[in-house]
Amino acid sequence: MTEPLHIIGGGMAGSEAAWQAAQAGIDVVLHEMRPSVGTFAHRTGNFAEMVCSNSFRSDDHERNAVGLLHWEMRAAGGLILEAAMAHRLPAGGALAVDREPFAEHVTARLRSHPRISFAEGEVTDLPREGHWIVATGPLTSAALAESIRQATGAQSLAFFDAIAPIVYAETVDMSVAWMQSRYDKGATHEEQTAYMNCPMTKDEYDAFIDALLAAEKTEFHPGETAGYFDGCLPIEVMAERGRETLRFGPMKPVGLTNPHSDQKPYAVVQLRRDNKLGTLYNIVGFQTKMKHSAQTAVFRMIPGLQNASFARLGGIHRNTFINSPSLLDDQMRLKSRPNIRFAGQVTGVEGYVESAAMGLLAGRMAAAQLQGRILPPPPPDTAMGALVTHITGGADARTFQPMNVNFGLFPPIEARGGRKGRKDRYKAYTDRAKDSFTAWLTV
Ligand SMILES: Cc1cc2nc3c(=O)[nH]c(=O)nc-3n(C[C@H](O)[C@H](O)[C@H](O)COP(=O)(O)OP(=O)(O)OC[C@H]3O[C@@H](n4cnc5c(N)ncnc54)[C@H](O)[C@@H]3O)c2cc1C
Repeated sequence: MTEPLHIIGGGMAGSEAAWQAAQAGIDVVLHEMRPSVGTFAHRTGNFAEMVCSNSFRSDDHERNAVGLLHWEMRAAGGLILEAAMAHRLPAGGALAVDREPFAEHVTARLRSHPRISFAEGEVTDLPREGHWIVATGPLTSAALAESIRQATGAQSLAFFDAIAPIVYAETVDMSVAWMQSRYDKGATHEEQTAYMNCPMTKDEYDAFIDALLAAEKTEFHPGETAGYFDGCLPIEVMAERGRETLRFGPMKPVGLTNPHSDQKPYAVVQLRRDNKLGTLYNIVGFQTKMKHSAQTAVFRMIPGLQNASFARLGGIHRNTFINSPSLLDDQMRLKSRPNIRFAGQVTGVEGYVESAAMGLLAGRMAAAQLQGRILPPPPPDTAMGALVTHITGGADARTFQPMNVNFGLFPPIEARGGRKGRKDRYKAYTDRAKDSFTAWLTV
């Protein structure tokens, strides 16, 4: 008889992991602390409770990366997508759900599964024996977080994210911007292409600061700021402290030479390479609590970014996550304790769908291992594969921040058959992904 799989956390990831492993024939024990121990965001004792919005975002599986992730999860028999489709609400192209029946659906399916049993209560220590998946999410309880911190090191666990906007490299106007590391540090090609620079005149800088100060901001949720560290200030807060603060901080114009002009820039916005593929660049030091609707307009005021497309916009949230690129192997196992896998938002993916997808993978990988085989991760040209490849090695561990699924994580593709334009290219990405994912399901 195979050993049971223990899963900590019955959220999006833990519920999906439990379902996948049980469907593969593994006995699962699902440990969940709610309702006896709560969080500031959860309200019920149901599994897979949606803590805020009721949307799984775009369901367009032909031209949208998160829609493609939906498609892959449906193809893999995912419980979260099954429940979402059963309780779908009209929302145009988005997959919005009726949150309570959705969570009740997931809860009922798990509770009636003959291979799943339940252990109610908080798990306070990272277990040393047995096979485990930790899927405790952005609000991992304090005691367990401390145990994870002791096992992985203080620098390896964060309690807030500080997300700077990420731009698709190909949409930066290089007739305005240029590649250069400050003071020309670094000799290798990778180091020399680590930074893009966008110059600003004084007038452009002044207009940018005005827009930053005027933009609508989001507030923290009640209870979210406990333990907030003042060291990752939003750019708009830096600007409020003085109009020149940014020019002496992340926008300082020193150590850089603009090859397009003899005029010395008044300020420079730097973008740093965000993945090994070089398809994504983040705007250095630009974590922000501006509303998403305001961010695009404000950031497109930066010369060189006037036509930029954003793979993700900035934010600052209460969010417990580990430094996955340095801690996890490609099986999502803790390198230092391979009996433990991590899944969900705690691995540094962001969002309901991405978290559930990582639960799906961890559940399948753990089940395969318990059955005496190794299930390779899906190829990186699939949405699930691109995401897991990013968190377990594609991202730079030194600057790792949570990531949504987006086409910038995929190996680049040239449009086939002479098709041009971004939409056609996205279709080519999703066609390729569906073939790869379908093949992976038979591995
Ligand atoms: C305030 C807030 C708002 C958010 N809004 C959105 C949004 O609008 N859209 C979106 O896509 N994402 C949002 N997120 C992110 C969202 O939480 C995740 O996308 C998703 O819920 C993560 O799934 P998960 O399974 O990793 O974690 P969760 O769904 O949070 O599940 C983790 C589970 O682990 C349990 N747990 C924690 N510690 C222990 C322990 N020690 N022992 C036993 N059980 C434990 C928790 O009770 C919980 O049930 C928000 C997050 C927060 C904090």
